[in-house]
Amino acid sequence: MNVLVEKRAPAMDVRTLGLSGYVHRHKVADGVLALYHPFGHEVSFIPEALEEVLDQRRYEMIPPELLNDLIQRRFLVPEDFDRSALDHVSAPPIKGFFSLWLLMVQTCNMACRYCVVEADEQTRKVAQDPEKTNASTKMTPETADRAVEVFRQSLERHRQPFAKTTIYGGEPLLNRLTVAHVVPRLRQMRWEGQTQPLEILCFTNGLIYDPKITEIFVQNDVTVGLSLDGLQQHNDASRPLLNGGGSFDKIVSSLKRYRDAGVRVGLSCTIGKHNKDDLGEIAAFFADELGINTFQLQTRMHLVRETRRPASLARLVSLLVSPDPSMRWDSERHAQ
Ligand code: SF4
Repeated sequence: MNVLVEKRAPAMDVRTLGLSGYVHRHKVADGVLALYHPFGHEVSFIPEALEEVLDQRRYEMIPPELLNDLIQRRFLVPEDFDRSALDHVSAPPIKGFFSLWLLMVQTCNMACRYCVVEADEQTRKVAQDPEKTNASTKMTPETADRAVEVFRQSLERHRQPFAKTTIYGGEPLLNRLTVAHVVPRLRQMRWEGQTQPLEILCFTNGLIYDPKITEIFVQNDVTVGLSLDGLQQHNDASRPLLNGGGSFDKIVSSLKRYRDAGVRVGLSCTIGKHNKDDLGEIAAFFADELGINTFQLQTRMHLVRETRRPASLARLVSLLVSPDPSMRWDSERHAQ
């Protein structure tokens, strides 16, 4: 065999290449194998029959287009690649804090089945009257100010180039008084050594939509993370209201209102029995129907216990991240 492959600049002899030791493999459907490379989060879907071919380096059996793709995206690499790549991607350890979480309240106006946060009496009253802004067990503006100052001093002491703050709960918008107070102060915060604007995030369940808070978010460049566990049937099975009703319509309505107002919005989706078999469909729904280009997956601990091994990263990524729509997981087409 003497196959030469173009790789941007010089040609190379593929016989010197092998699968990177960092590549994860996972069968995602009958006859389909997903390869995932953590360096660059690359995903490739190949016929399962080619796994043995790759392991045995019988590259003449692989269609040239696929072979080139595997090389260009570093699935197939020279022998010294793994060690030198690790040196390249390793970053020096970061000293000191660079992330501050502000927990606005310890209660919530939702009753997600997998969550330990509970609504107290005051929260139940607030949940019934959207005009009320305060839950009990909340962070005061003074406490928030003290936390921001401690954070600023730490950032300055370590000359951190970047930092981020997450506004969190319970449901943080049950304490809009402190949210409205602290967001502009965070945006005005400066420290020596800073090279990038502070990243400010607010995670909310979407039940409360307050135009005044939205205006503050827009003025201070706050990114909103909304929790949504999938399509209506997935979300409402796991994220009910306090009265047992579904939350999907309200969350999607809030998402649209935030976006119409000019707020950057991402989604957070918790994986569980209620949605684990439909992740591809959910990813397509987020991207195509809701226009979301950023979402994160939360894995619950008991999912790990049930399967007695960590949920397969390769499987999740292969289902979700392909930029090519034709490569996206289609739960009907690939039903197992
Ligand atoms: S919205 Fe968040 S804090 Fe509230 S019950 Fe659900 S998971 Fe828990």
